[in-house]
Amino acid sequence: MSTNNVLSMLTELVKLPSVSSTLPSRDMGNIKVIERLANWLEPLGFAIRILPIAGNPNKANLIATLGSGSGGLVLAGHTDTVPCDDSLWHSDPFALTERDGRLYGLGSTDMKGFFAIVIEALKPFLEKPLNAPLIILATADEESSMDGARSLVHADVSGARYAVVGEPTGLKPMRAHKGIVMKGITITGRSGHSSNPLLGNNAMDAMHEVMSGLMQLRQELALKYQHPGFSVPTPTLNFGCIHGGDNPNRICGQCELHFDIRTTPGMDNGELDALIQKVLTPVAERRAINIGLRALMPGLAAYEEPENSDIVTLVEQLTGQPAGTVGFATEAPFFQQLGLQTIVMGPGSIDQAHQPDEFMALDQIQPTIDVLQAMIQRYCG
Ligand SMILES: [Zn+2]
Repeated sequence: MSTNNVLSMLTELVKLPSVSSTLPSRDMGNIKVIERLANWLEPLGFAIRILPIAGNPNKANLIATLGSGSGGLVLAGHTDTVPCDDSLWHSDPFALTERDGRLYGLGSTDMKGFFAIVIEALKPFLEKPLNAPLIILATADEESSMDGARSLVHADVSGARYAVVGEPTGLKPMRAHKGIVMKGITITGRSGHSSNPLLGNNAMDAMHEVMSGLMQLRQELALKYQHPGFSVPTPTLNFGCIHGGDNPNRICGQCELHFDIRTTPGMDNGELDALIQKVLTPVAERRAINIGLRALMPGLAAYEEPENSDIVTLVEQLTGQPAGTVGFATEAPFFQQLGLQTIVMGPGSIDQAHQPDEFMALDQIQPTIDVLQAMIQRYCG
């Protein structure tokens, strides 16, 4: 019965495309999914707030609140999906299709399915008033810029103390992930005839020194920061691409490097900027060359919920599994910034996310309903 309700809600959510992409031609907006969730939750007694994302009429966050008090629970997720290539799918990505005990569809597991399950799970709690608020929070643009979650800095979730970010983890609780910083360095020198180095200022020579300095920084960071919970326990710094010069017999006038750093919990993204700048400045001065540093995207903080925090203890009890770490980034750090104890835990597997033939296994539904109901009972009941 509850599985049927989840199935029909998920069918409707999957039918509403909400692809988010950094490529404007593929970007769709999520407003239809937000409005659908609001239309389901309002008749159940939820107070609805739809918060537009600045500059994007097709995008919004939803905060739906039932009850009042303090110590309540936020059930959070993103409503956007990654783009998909229909030709690689065995069924229509926007038509939920059941086969072999699985529900196939774009966003079925990452993560429209979570919302369908949440709405089914909360139904028994509508009969009598809650002691603390239950908040359903749905965001935009998690898969691209995280602008939805970023704009929550000023969101009012007063009365809530705990948050579940329902990303697909196979219902295993996750209490930490690394952060991401992506940077571009542009070195502008002066080109000239290669026969005489004094005729120019070689940007590639300078980049060589910058890269040596960054490799040194990588070692220092690895010595200073370690987290045994991750399969790669240290921060990483990866040189991703480099472009410079045009001809073997011309002094290289310009060189550009893109790299990313995966930070461990406890590292500060702002402090990292200063450390990178400390590598660049001496090279720029010594070589009298222009070196620019810029962010390729707004950084994302690393996330860790202490192992002894109340929500971690509770979900470990409810699932019978110790809280682990995940290799992907989530909106969790933004919920922590709102003062919420935050756990990442949801139905479905990340292995199926961002893949053709994405699916949610049917046997994930009831266990997720059980865990969510126990949490709602504990924090709001
Ligand atoms: Zn996701």
